[in-house]
Amino acid sequence: MTTDRTNWAGSFSYDARRVHAPRSEDELREIVAASTRVRALGSRHSFSQVANTDGDLVSLADLPRTVSVDAAGSTVTVAAGMRYGEVCRELHEHGFAMHNLGSLPHISMAGAVATATHGSGDGNASLASAVSALEMVTADGELVTVDRDADAERFGGMVVALGALGIVVRMTLDVVPTFEVRQDVYEGLALDTFEKNADEIFAGAYSVSLFTDFVAPTMTAWLKSRVDDVDPAGPDPDWMGARRAASAHHPVPGMSAESCTGQLGVPGPWYDRLPHFRLDFTPSNGAELQSEYLVPRAAAADALRALHGIGEHIAPVLQICELRTVAADEQWLSPAYRQDVVAFHFTWVRDAAAVMPVLKLMEQQLAPYYARPHWGKLFTHEPGHLRSLFPRLSDFRALRHELDPRGTFGNAFVDQHIG
Ligand SMILES: Cc1cc2nc3c(=O)[nH]c(=O)nc-3n(C[C@H](O)[C@H](O)[C@H](O)COP(=O)(O)OP(=O)(O)OC[C@H]3O[C@@H](n4cnc5c(N)ncnc54)[C@H](O)[C@@H]3O)c2cc1C
Repeated sequence: MTTDRTNWAGSFSYDARRVHAPRSEDELREIVAASTRVRALGSRHSFSQVANTDGDLVSLADLPRTVSVDAAGSTVTVAAGMRYGEVCRELHEHGFAMHNLGSLPHISMAGAVATATHGSGDGNASLASAVSALEMVTADGELVTVDRDADAERFGGMVVALGALGIVVRMTLDVVPTFEVRQDVYEGLALDTFEKNADEIFAGAYSVSLFTDFVAPTMTAWLKSRVDDVDPAGPDPDWMGARRAASAHHPVPGMSAESCTGQLGVPGPWYDRLPHFRLDFTPSNGAELQSEYLVPRAAAADALRALHGIGEHIAPVLQICELRTVAADEQWLSPAYRQDVVAFHFTWVRDAAAVMPVLKLMEQQLAPYYARPHWGKLFTHEPGHLRSLFPRLSDFRALRHELDPRGTFGNAFVDQHIG
């Protein structure tokens, strides 16, 4: 059972009066029915207070692990508390793959989906976009099923739900035929070149990540290409004026690449290349904070230039910044709701007093681009402000009050930002 009372980064402690780890669904249903204030806890990787509560926290980590592949329907149904990495291997053995993954395979499926976690790639929508059905425990302890076709009108509010509608115990996701990926890192991509060719650069592979530190005039590009899409001889040693790296990289310059998935163009299964980090490498508690803002794709270069305008504030507290593209989806609370976006992710030093004022400055700089924050990472927007950024937030609020009228699954974060 999970006894940890802090999030993964150790940047805050949960205020819960109890942390439960039921071993069966019946036990889970009893806990929920008996509680007036309860939240699901995933793998504790969020930096915001989205999972926190002063009531009961429930981890699904001790529920039975189940992975059931429907080959004819190209779907997989999983126990929602499982980590992506655990499910991926089994899926691959059945000949299937997820369309995309986040940078870390250790993150729970339900927790990732609940906050619109995404990977990268022009054609790749958020992880939540693959979900076609959910089974969840509601406030009275009942188990209900929600299905993309049968509940078409409200399904857009049900998946990226911040844990505010119930505790998800099983999810069904669309899968695709398994595929192999090669990962090539290019060093020295000039910021200037990016500004003029952002679309071409993001289209350079199935999944593209650009890393920048707000000091060097260049970026590092990680290209994750489907092996069936590229010339067997491999991509050119020079690309957009950058050079293919001859040694493996960590996203943060100077850190050992030991924890990273295979690079240098060596083909491997999708689940061991799309994330930056290896599942079999146990990451220590990360001494870091994270935030992320997502802006419309067309604003990528302008938004980066705006951030460079306050680069002298960003650089001293920054470990690394990563740019990724995410395709539009249909989830009301997704930052990519009905728009293709570019995500500006920041890994900061773990010093909230130094970082939070910088976030405020960044939010001012990005305001002209209607930048939407990642729900699982840090931001400083005032309560209520997010209503102007997420066009379907009031629909989600109505859905929340309909499905959970007593606010059993509420917490301070949801009450403040959703209402
Ligand atoms: C090292 C690192 C790398 C990351 N990489 C990425 C990335 O590549 N892309 C990206 O977009 N984000 C990334 N994130 C952010 C991360 O994906 C999100 O914060 C995600 O929500 C974490 O999932 P979790 O299982 O740890 O959830 P938690 O932090 O435990 O919970 C998050 C939310 O999910 C809800 N929840 C959890 N389980 C359930 C359930 N069973 N039913 C209903 N609600 C539930 C909780 O109530 C809470 O509201 C990263 C974070 C870290 C620390």
